[in-house]
This record gives sequence, C-alpha cells and structure tokens, in this order.
Amino acid sequence: MDNRFVHLAAPGVRRLAPYVPGKPPEQLERELGVRDSIKLASNENPLGPGPRSRAALAAAIPGIAMYPDGSGHVLRARLAERHGVAIEQVTLGNGSNDVLVLLAETFLTPAHEAVYSQYGFAVYPLAVQAASAIARVAPANPAAHAMPLGHDLAAMRALIGPQTRLLFIANPNNPTGTWFGEAELVELLRAVPEQVIVVLDEAYHEYALEHGCPDGTRWLAQFPNLVVTRTFSKAWGLAGLRIGYALSHPDVADLLNRVRQPFNVSVPGLAAAAAALDDADHLQASLANNRAGLVRLRAGLAALGLFVLPSAGNFVLCDLGRPVGPVNQALLRRGVIVRPVGNYDLPHHLRITVGTPEQNERLLAALAAVLAEGV
Ligand SMILES: *Cc1c(COP(=O)(O)O)cnc(C)c1O
Repeated sequence: MDNRFVHLAAPGVRRLAPYVPGKPPEQLERELGVRDSIKLASNENPLGPGPRSRAALAAAIPGIAMYPDGSGHVLRARLAERHGVAIEQVTLGNGSNDVLVLLAETFLTPAHEAVYSQYGFAVYPLAVQAASAIARVAPANPAAHAMPLGHDLAAMRALIGPQTRLLFIANPNNPTGTWFGEAELVELLRAVPEQVIVVLDEAYHEYALEHGCPDGTRWLAQFPNLVVTRTFSKAWGLAGLRIGYALSHPDVADLLNRVRQPFNVSVPGLAAAAAALDDADHLQASLANNRAGLVRLRAGLAALGLFVLPSAGNFVLCDLGRPVGPVNQALLRRGVIVRPVGNYDLPHHLRITVGTPEQNERLLAALAAVLAEGV
C-alpha cells in the first residue's frame, strides 16, 4: 500500500489499481504445484492460431532484427479492403487495448470527461484515470432486465455534458457478455453530439454477429465521431502477439497517429495478423467450437443450479449467489483456472471462457465436484 513515490505520480495514477489478469497456468503450477491445468480465464481462442498465421509467424522470424513498418501498410491495406474503408481510417495498436489508451491520451485532459457503464470493460476506467480525466459511470441494466448488468445506453447518454469527449461502449461487453442491437446503437449515435467521440469496442464481433450484434463499421461513414475497435486477440487466436485496430474518420486516425508509438506493432504481429485474415476456415471452426461450447456451458451450469447471463462472446458470466473465493480456490486446486470478477464489483460472479469440448467438460465436472463437497 505504502509507496514512497506515490505523491510524485500524476493525480490519476495515484488512485489507480493495476489491471488483474487471468492467472497464467505456470503461476498456478508455481503456487499450488498443480500440473495439466486448463485456463478458461482470459477469453483466448482454445483452438489457437490458424495454419496461415502460424506459417507467416515462422517466416517472419528472420526479419525481427529490423524495425517493423511503422505505418503497418500491408495489414492496414488488408483491413481497409475487408471493411470497405480507406487505409487512412485504420489505426493499428499493440492490442486494441493500446488503441483504447491512445484515444484517452488523444482526447482527454484533467478537465475532460469520459462516460462508460458500470461493469464495462476494465480498461476504460484505467485509461481514463491514467489520463487524470473525469469518469462518469452510468448505472448498468438492473438484474431483472433481458440483458442483466448490461449497458443502459439511455443512462449513458444522460451523463454527457459540455466537457465530455469520449463515450466507451462494448458490444458485446466483457465481463457481462451482454449486448445491444442495431436500433439502440443508431439511436445513441443520432443523439450524441459530434464533440463526443463514441468508442464502440467490438473485440468479440466475430462471435457476436450470429447473436444479432450489429456491425458498427457500417455507421462510420454516417457518424464521423464514431470509432470502432477490433482485435486479433479473441476469435483470431493471436492474443499473445498483441494486435488490434481502430476504424475511424481519417481525421481521428490522424490525431491517434500523432500520439501512437512509431513502432507499436511488431514484425511478427503484422505478418501473422495479415495472414490470419486468410484463415477463413480456422475462423469458422473457432466460431463453431464456440457456438457448441456456449450451449454446453450454459446447460451444464444451469444444471448445477447456477444463473448464467446471456452472452454473445466466447465466455459466460455465472452467478454463484455468494462470494466466489472458496469455489475459485477449489477449482484452482483441481487445475481449472476461471476468472473471478471482484475487480468489477461482482464478487458473486465467475467469468468462464468457452474452451474445447474436453476443457468444457473438465470445468463442469470440477465445478460439480466442488459444489457437491459443499465448498
Ligand atoms: C479482450 C478485450 C479487449 C482487448 O484486447 P486486446 O488483446 O488488447 O486487443 C478490448 N475490449 C474488450 C471488451 C475485451 O474483452
């Protein structure tokens, strides 16, 4: 707690608590001596990267003595083509997390405000606080809502004032899995003044499309203050390479580019991401695995008497109805890593990533055993 230099830190940083990541399997092995653990804690793709991105990654190794192409031209051109936008509208990031932070650095000051939702993705409060800006947190949907704990876009709109510069929305949201439809999104975009940049975080878009989640990129031409962020970390299976991007009006991209580190995306990252776009079969296999896994996890958790929120992502948020600490510890001892979300003020919930069929069964069996023991 005591930090001898804390008084020297920027005001926002003084109150900042670091992001809590999912426990790496090696750490579990170090701490509890558990072998053969499975990690369903960080919404990674259990099928791993596709064959073309693996090959491109291997082929990129000899080139790593050189700096990457700082403009990321090849990948940006591919993404522009894929999304039907100009290359000037694409900004690459070291994960989409980097792009979210760039947006905060570009548009926020201690005098400016950002709006996000209660239970919104944890990086929004981090980015806003690190910029020493003011956070306006909208209450989430109530538990009885069709999208419990999800974004209440009307409540978010109501917090917009003259000092608001950014509004962060995730569709679907992590950790809740909840989403909103096209009509709600368009209503929001119509109502928000142009001085507020709407950051639509679509990290799970590939998974979410089949649940009726809209493709936000379709509104870029109509709403110049819209920024859509995407990532290669989730459905594309490249979380370890750190590569994401924003699509925006070229003038927003121009500003982000002034703040961006010149070489923020690595040589292997650029190569593997561009190649991943050709791994269409692998993407389809990943979506199919997720589709079946979501159904299985929902049914299995419900059979254990647990409430599961609707999810359009590759994870579910499950309500244990009591503090999750002991159950989480017991799962860890059985080599199953899931994600407690106390850092989101949800001490009764566990977030569970969809795994392979075997991993899903192992999680369900472990959880059933733990609950049967009366933990
Ligand atoms: C995982 C995630 C991201 C960012 O992931 P990166 O690996 O930095 O691209 C962004 N938003 C949400 C909602 C996420 O869950």
